[in-house]
Amino acid sequence: MVITDSRLGDAVRPVFLTFEGEIKPGEPFAHMVENRDLTAALLAKARAEGVDLRATAVAGCDGGRDHVEARLADGARFDARLIVAADGARSSLRERAGISMVGWSYGQTAIVTTVAHERDHHGRADEHFLPAGPFAILPLKGNRSSIVWTEESAEAERIIALSDEAFYAELERRFGLRLGDIRVAGPRRAYPLGLSVARAFVAPRLALVGDAAHVIHPIAGQGLNMGLRDVAALAEVIVDAARLGLDPGARDVLERYQRWRRFDTMAMGLATDGLNRLFSNRSDVLRFLRDIGLGLVDRLPALKDVFIREAAGLTGDVPKLLRGEAL
Ligand SMILES: Cc1cc2nc3c(=O)[nH]c(=O)nc-3n(C[C@H](O)[C@H](O)[C@H](O)COP(=O)(O)OP(=O)(O)OC[C@H]3O[C@@H](n4cnc5c(N)ncnc54)[C@H](O)[C@@H]3O)c2cc1C
Repeated sequence: MVITDSRLGDAVRPVFLTFEGEIKPGEPFAHMVENRDLTAALLAKARAEGVDLRATAVAGCDGGRDHVEARLADGARFDARLIVAADGARSSLRERAGISMVGWSYGQTAIVTTVAHERDHHGRADEHFLPAGPFAILPLKGNRSSIVWTEESAEAERIIALSDEAFYAELERRFGLRLGDIRVAGPRRAYPLGLSVARAFVAPRLALVGDAAHVIHPIAGQGLNMGLRDVAALAEVIVDAARLGLDPGARDVLERYQRWRRFDTMAMGLATDGLNRLFSNRSDVLRFLRDIGLGLVDRLPALKDVFIREAAGLTGDVPKLLRGEAL
C-alpha cells in the first residue's frame, strides 16, 4: 500500500509512506474481498451449518421479560432469548428499541466505482490524499481496481451527474498513468459520509452489531472489520454464558458485550475522524507537518508494524475468533 499527499493539480504525487515487506514472508499486508464473494462464502457456510436462512425482513419485535418475539414480513413469528440487529446504518430494530445515534456528517460523499486498467496492479493499493479527501485505488482480481473517491458533497453530486466522457476525465486526473489506459467498468455509486455511534449497543434482549452500532469514515477501510469484531466478541460472550447455563439474553451478559466493544469503537471512530480532519483540507501548513509525520513513520519499521497490527485488528482485547481460536 502506497500513500501520497498532494494537491489535485500537482504533476507528481510524491510517495510519503509505503507498507511493503513489513509482513511475514508470503503473508499479505491486507486482503481485498469483494462483497459478493464474501456474501456467497458466508451464505454457503451458514447453509452447511444448517442455519435457517429466510429471504425476508424483520418487521418488528415485541419483548417479554424472558423472551422476545420477532415478526417477519412474510408473517412468520419466532420466539428467542436474544435478537442480534445486523440491519445496517439505518437499523429499524435499533430505532424501535429507542436507541439514538451520536455523531456528525463530514459534508463529504464517497464515489465508488470499478476501473479496468491496462497493466497489472501486482496487488498494490494506492491512497492519494487530496484536499477534498482520500482517493483510494484498491486492487481487485484481474486488471481491475475498486475506487473509493471522496469529494465535498456538492462536488460529488456534480461529478456523479456528469456524462460518461466528463466523468472519465475527472477520474483520470486523479487516477494517474501508472496502470496504463483505464476504463470505467462499473456503476457509479454515492455514499454520504459521517461518523455515528449508537448511544447504547444493547437494549433488553437486543444486541447491535456492525453498522447498526457504528458508522465511521472509510479513510482506513475499517468499517466491516469493526463489525466482524463485534460479531466475534458477541459470539464469545454468548458461548461463555451458555457454558455456565446462563441466559444469553440476560442483561449482564449483554453488558459484557457492550463494555467490550464500546471503547474500541470510540477509539477507532475518533482515530478515523482525526485522520480525515488532518488530511482532508487545503492548509499548506498542515500538509507540511503531516508529510514530515508520514516520512517519519516510513522510516520506523516498529511504528509501521503497530499500524499494521492495529489495522488487522490484532491489538487490544482481541476476541478468540479473530485470533483463529475456537470458542
Ligand atoms: C464508500 C465506502 C467504502 C468502504 N470501504 C470499506 C473497506 O475498505 N473496508 C471495510 O472494512 N469497510 C468498508 N466500508 C464499511 C462497510 O461497507 C460497512 O461497515 C459494512 O458494509 C457494514 O456491514 P453491515 O452488515 O453491518 O451493514 P450493511 O452492509 O448495511 O448490511 C445490512 C443488511 O441488513 C439488511 N436489512 C436492513 N433492514 C432489515 C430488516 N428489517 N430485516 C432484515 N434485514 C434487514 C439490509 O438489506 C442489508 O443487507 C466502506 C463503506 C463505505 C460507505
